[in-house]
Amino acid sequence: MLIVMNPAATDAQIAGVTGMIDSLGLQAHVMRGDSRAAIAITGDTGGVDRNRFESLPGVAEAIRVSKPYKLTSLDSRPERTVVSVDGAQIGGGQLALIAGPCSVENRAQAFATAEAVKKSGAQFFRGGAFKPRSSPYSFSGLGEEGLKILAEVRERFGLNIVTEALDEESVALVEKYADMIQVGSRNMQNFSLLRRVGRSRLPVLLKRGMAATLEEWLLAAEYVMAEGNANVVLCERGVRTFAQHSRNTLDLAAVPAVRRISHLPVIVDASHGTGRNYMVAPLARAGVAAGADGLMIEVHCKPQEALSDGAQALTLEEFDLMAKQVRAIHEVIS
Ligand code: PEP
Ligand code: MN
Repeated sequence: MLIVMNPAATDAQIAGVTGMIDSLGLQAHVMRGDSRAAIAITGDTGGVDRNRFESLPGVAEAIRVSKPYKLTSLDSRPERTVVSVDGAQIGGGQLALIAGPCSVENRAQAFATAEAVKKSGAQFFRGGAFKPRSSPYSFSGLGEEGLKILAEVRERFGLNIVTEALDEESVALVEKYADMIQVGSRNMQNFSLLRRVGRSRLPVLLKRGMAATLEEWLLAAEYVMAEGNANVVLCERGVRTFAQHSRNTLDLAAVPAVRRISHLPVIVDASHGTGRNYMVAPLARAGVAAGADGLMIEVHCKPQEALSDGAQALTLEEFDLMAKQVRAIHEVIS
């Protein structure tokens, strides 16, 4: 259920509503928009009479939300979410560029890549310290040592750090060094991890599972939001299909589809979405044209030497050109 307050409702009136929700054993989620506040209710609201809320002072309307996802729905928050990380924004009309290598390999690699992507206009640096690899024998990241390098990158270049937490245990370490927690495709339905990042102070970048429907993806975001973390960014990274010409099939229709039903920002990962260097820039351009709030792009100072995902990494020069192109496209459509 969603309680929409009058534009002039006072804090005391909002507290009156949340008090009623608490007394019913339900959870209240207050969302303050520019013009008015709304309070989403989660829990089993089946037996609750709307009139109980509509008779409270300051309440404009109590609406039953029939969709399975509630907090992530555009119905519950018509003003779109803007995730702010130390001055940089994802959503709100800005084009966020998150760039960096698949894995942090050493300081020299991270610094050379970070310096270049910063010059090209990226506001966020990505790099895995905990890597989900299909084979247990593949390079699986430097762990905390990688996170320390990422923290140095932030210090030196003023880039915000996005990095993956692979399990509940690594969340605390990522919280210590990074600015945004990535939940990977393979973990999109790791519900205990989702709950844990939902209790984090850091924003969450939630990748779409490689076989997830839109509803499953939004419900995964709902897990994070239901724990109190409203700063969620969705990331389309391709799904598994019969196609063999690309690593995954980047589902760009997901961008307008998500924007139609959810207030959460949505970005496109054209690197994992294609798996092929030559496809990354065309699909990144298409992602921005489709209305994405940003891009995640793997960039490496020496792709041929990369310890993971070298085949899809852009060179520094290729990223620079792509960044110019996508900014131009973004300007045209905004
Ligand atoms: C990554 O971003 O490096 C990654 C492993 O992504 P995904 O979870 O989308 O495969
Ligand atoms: Mn990768």
